[in-house]
Amino acid sequence: MKLFTVGPVEMFQETLELSGKQLPYFRTNEFSEVMLDNERLFKKSIGAQGNDKTVFLTASGSGAMEATILNCFSRNDRVLVINGGTFGQRFVDICKVHGIPFDEISLSFDATLTLEMLEENYCKEHTALLVNIHETSNGKLYDIGMLSRFCADKSLFFVIDAISSYLADDINFNKYNVDALIVSSQKALALAPGISIVQVSEKLYEERIDGKETRTFYFDFYSHIKNLERGQTPFTPAVGILLELNQRLKQIDSIGVAEVVEHRKKMANMFRTEASKLGYEVPQYTLSNALTPLIVKPHAKQFYEILRKRYDMMVTPSGGSMADVLVRVGHLGNLEWKDYELLLGAMDEMRDELK
Ligand SMILES: *Cc1c(COP(=O)(O)O)cnc(C)c1O
Repeated sequence: MKLFTVGPVEMFQETLELSGKQLPYFRTNEFSEVMLDNERLFKKSIGAQGNDKTVFLTASGSGAMEATILNCFSRNDRVLVINGGTFGQRFVDICKVHGIPFDEISLSFDATLTLEMLEENYCKEHTALLVNIHETSNGKLYDIGMLSRFCADKSLFFVIDAISSYLADDINFNKYNVDALIVSSQKALALAPGISIVQVSEKLYEERIDGKETRTFYFDFYSHIKNLERGQTPFTPAVGILLELNQRLKQIDSIGVAEVVEHRKKMANMFRTEASKLGYEVPQYTLSNALTPLIVKPHAKQFYEILRKRYDMMVTPSGGSMADVLVRVGHLGNLEWKDYELLLGAMDEMRDELK
């Protein structure tokens, strides 16, 4: 089965080999060194600076989203959430559960987020902006430069869920003055699910985390950051994934992040061009390089099923109101152009059945 999904994705051969090995015990100097190397390489990969803090959590991405909100915001805040789909809604739901005052900018499927919308919804009580920089449920990529300038202009903490944008789009912690950036192991890193990483700016750390009272035990960032100074985590982490992460980060470092992103971009653009030639519709809004949404209305489920059953290929189906409308073709993980040629061949053959 070839995976054109967004996570888990096709893993690299080296990762698969490593994942079959016996795990080591982790309270050792050797494991600490791996963790410090993970921290260094991860920071380098996103352009974070020396005093920015890295948190390695054993959790899926949603756990890291919740942990970030719990550690950095309280009932005394008022946050502005960009809600353009399932993942934007997740930030809203987390704020509701924890009683964090929020306002949301709800975007319809076709809408592009503009500075006017931000200005209209802003009020001076706002302390932070929360955004899934790529809304994975529909492939929409928001303008990180515009959001960054807006946050700087209004003195808002800039919190980015970059889970599906890391290594796929132009994400840079320092350049865009990001205060918290969330990444997860099962997307472009192409590892097993289970590890999420939150990069926290020095400013957010000093104002909201360092020496502050915590409302979470397992996800306490302060304790994670203090432990990482000696290359450790407070609790047993997903040891195997952290070892795989080290191998992947080294691999990415040797290729260069810009090069990795460029490859994704090339696959995405070539796929979009060819799919359009076959008569498939791609939405008009700005897209992430992580995936291509295809409007296959009302045959999206059928499209997904035919590919899965007849061609042994898995694209990403949609949920809720988009289930019959949209499928998403991933460009993450170990996929090369020959894989897309096979997919496009199948899409060509099945075209007439979708009428
Ligand atoms: C995948 C993803 C998540 C994490 O989802 P989990 O199922 O909790 O791993 C969060 N945000 C975005 C934008 C994602 O693409």
